[in-house]
Order: sequence, then C-alpha cells, then structure tokens
Amino acid sequence: MILSALILNELNRQLQKDTGTQVSGSFGERTVFVIDAGHGGEDGGAIGANGCIEKELNLDIALTLYDLLRASDIPAVLTRDEDIMLYDESIPGKKKSQDLKNRLEIADSFENSVLISIHMNSYPSPKYKGAQVYYSVNDQSGKQLAKILQDDFKEILQNENTRQIKPATSAIYLLHNAKKPAVLVECGFISNIEEAELLCNGNYRNKVATVIYSSIVKYITEQRTVK
Ligand SMILES: [Zn+2]
Repeated sequence: MILSALILNELNRQLQKDTGTQVSGSFGERTVFVIDAGHGGEDGGAIGANGCIEKELNLDIALTLYDLLRASDIPAVLTRDEDIMLYDESIPGKKKSQDLKNRLEIADSFENSVLISIHMNSYPSPKYKGAQVYYSVNDQSGKQLAKILQDDFKEILQNENTRQIKPATSAIYLLHNAKKPAVLVECGFISNIEEAELLCNGNYRNKVATVIYSSIVKYITEQRTVK
C-alpha cells in the first residue's frame, strides 16, 4: 500500500505539472477514458480456481481505476458501475451481442475516447499466469497504450511476466470493431490458483488499478509530447 501511495503521489505531481489549470465539468475535446468492466449481470465471465467470479473482480478494479482518474481530473466514464449486462429487454436479439454493442457505443459517443476493457483470463491448464494486454489494430494509439500497460504490469507488479502485447482478432468484438484506440487488459489468470487468490484480495486489486492508472498517465504524457 505504501508503494501504491508513493506511486500515486508522484504521478499526481507529474500530471499536475503537465495539465496546468483545467476547466473541469465538460470533457470537451479532451480524451475520455472509457473504463469497461467486462461481463456483468447474468454474464458472470470466467469462474476462478477458488470459485471467484470474473465479473465482480472486473467491476471492483474498474471502480477503483475510475476514482483514481477522476481524482486527477482525467476525463473518465464507466460502461457499468453495477452488476448488470447492458441490454434492453424490449429489443429482440441476443443479450450478449446487444451488451457488447452498447459498450462500444459508449466509447464511440465521445469525440476522443480510449476504451480500456478489464477482464480476467482463464485457461484449461492451471499453470498459466500473468497479465496479458490486447490492442485494437484499428488505431495505433491503442497499441502504444497496450505496450505501456504490459511493461508497467511487469515492472510494478509481476517482475517474472514475459508476455508480449497481442493484436486482437475478430474473437474480441470490442477491439475488432473499435473505431478509436482500444485495449483489453486480462489482469491475470483466475484459472491459476495463486493468481486467483491474489486477485480475490482487495489490496492486490487496488494495486492492479494503480498499475493501469499509472499507464494511462504515461500514455497521456506521451501523447502530449507527440502533439
Ligand atoms: Zn472476460
């Protein structure tokens, strides 16, 4: 926790230096980070080796990340802030496809947005672990953010993680159809008992949210440097 607090202080200082005075209230043309807690409601996502449910872990990390961003005056919205799927009962068709489409529409509704979808990985073999970041090939800025995220997970939280970022295929609807920068963060494998236990711990989830937050701050700084 001390480490997280130190990182946060440093990042906030860095950010304040970069942003100067900002008019809060309307996001205007500023980049809005759309934080998407994967699954929800009847769609629980993966079940962990210890019985944890993916949708709950995703939401907790998303809420913490959202609070960190807003506390730093970084424009952010959540696709869901409770245990729900995003669909309308009166509209025919599959709930899951409506749900995904609605999540993407939230990102598309902003002039400048970056979609960050938060998930937990699961695999039949229990040996695999470590965060894995995917990016949409439709916008190169997504790849840039994915790289920062993957590196930060390794540096701050998982020194032994050797995973490389991966381009999303059509199997990941949100990234495949994204019109703006988009990444999907698999925060860890809940099919691995050790990682499932870590991810069930609130302090660890706060650290995961802090890693993602630190990556976003670096991304914002890099984007400014380019412009
Ligand atoms: Zn998932």
